[in-house]
Amino acid sequence: MFSEKAKKNADACRFCWMCRHLCPVQLVTGKETNTPRAKGLQVSMLERGMTMDAECARTMYECLLCGACTNDCATGFDPLVFIREARTQANVLDLVPAEVRKVIDRVLETGNIYGAKEPRVDLSGVPETGDTLVWLGECARHSVPETAEALFAVLRKAGVPFAVLKNEPGSGSSLGDLLGFVEDVRAQAQRAGEAIRRSGAKRVIVLDSYDAALMRHEYKDWGVELPEIVTATACVDQLIREGRLSLKQTHEVITYHDGSRLARDLDEHEPARAILKAMGYEIHEMWQNRRLAKCCGSAVAGQYMPDIRLRVAENRWNDVKRTDAKHLTAACPQSTEALAATAPEEYRYTDLFVLVKEHL
Ligand code: SF4
Ligand code: SF4
Repeated sequence: MFSEKAKKNADACRFCWMCRHLCPVQLVTGKETNTPRAKGLQVSMLERGMTMDAECARTMYECLLCGACTNDCATGFDPLVFIREARTQANVLDLVPAEVRKVIDRVLETGNIYGAKEPRVDLSGVPETGDTLVWLGECARHSVPETAEALFAVLRKAGVPFAVLKNEPGSGSSLGDLLGFVEDVRAQAQRAGEAIRRSGAKRVIVLDSYDAALMRHEYKDWGVELPEIVTATACVDQLIREGRLSLKQTHEVITYHDGSRLARDLDEHEPARAILKAMGYEIHEMWQNRRLAKCCGSAVAGQYMPDIRLRVAENRWNDVKRTDAKHLTAACPQSTEALAATAPEEYRYTDLFVLVKEHL
C-alpha cells in the first residue's frame, strides 16, 4: 500500500513531538491530527490494518506540504513522503473530500486550479518562441497577473527579449500536491516539457517557485529534459548585478517573506534580499526567516480549504507585526495571492516584482 520509504518515515514520526510547534496548519487549527506526528501515526496504523476513512483522508489534505517539519527534523525524516502517498491512497479509495475533488477535476480539465480557460495576463505582442521563455505558472496567469506583468516590465527595461506560452500547460505541481506523484502528474510534466521544447528556449525563467521546485527536483527523474531553469528572483538579481537595471532609491524599512518552496525546496534566500537592498530598502527580518520561514498558504490550499489558508496567512502577518516594518514583500505569486488579501490595517503588501517595477 505505502512505499517502504513512506512506511519508514511514518514509523519514525508517529511518536515524535519535535517539530509540531512549526506546523502552520496545526498552529491555526489547534487540532492534534494536524501535527506531522499524528499524520505519521495514522499512516502507520493504515499499514497495520486500519482502514482509511473519510476523516483520515481529510486530515491528509489539511497540510500545506510546506516542508517546515522536514526542514526541522534533526533525524532526517520527511512527513511529505507519506502525506503525498496517503493522498494517492485517498484518491484510489474514492475518499478525497468533495472540495478537493472539485479542484482535481478543474486541474484535469483546464490544467489549472482555477478552472480558467484564458489567462488574465496581458500577453499582447509577446512571442511564443525564443531563446528565453518566461514560465508564469497558474497563479500568476489567472489570479495575480500584476506579478507577471511587472516581471515583463523589468525584463523589457533590462533589454531581455523573452517569450511566453499563451496556452501554458500545467506543470504538474498542483496535481502532484493533490494526488501525489502519480502517472497523471508525470503526464502533465511531459506535456509541459514538450511545450518548453517547442518554444526553442535555451533558458526558462520560472516565476512560480512551486513550478521551479518541481522542474528542478522531479522532471529529470521522470525523463523530462529541460533547458537551464532559473528563478525569476535569481534572474532579476543577476540583471541588477550586471548593471542592466537602474533603480530609484528609498530608505524605507521592509520585511521579506520567504516562500516555502523557494526557501526550502530551492534553498534560495539571498537574491530577493539583494534586490531589495539594491533599491535601498532596510530589511527587518521576521524571526522565522529563510529555511525556517512559516508558510503563508499555497494557492492550491486556498482553493479547497480557504478558511485555513486565510488563518495561516493572517498568522504570518502576526510575525510581520513583531517587526517594526509596516511593509511586507514576497517573491512568489502564491505568496502574493495569500498575503495581499490579508494585509491588516496600517500594513502594506507589495509583490517583489511589482516593487521593482515601481522603482524603475
Ligand atoms: S519530521 Fe522529524 S521531528 Fe518531525 S515528527 Fe517526524 S521524526 Fe519528528
Ligand atoms: S508540511 Fe507543513 S503543513 Fe504539512 S505537516 Fe509539515 S509543517 Fe505541517
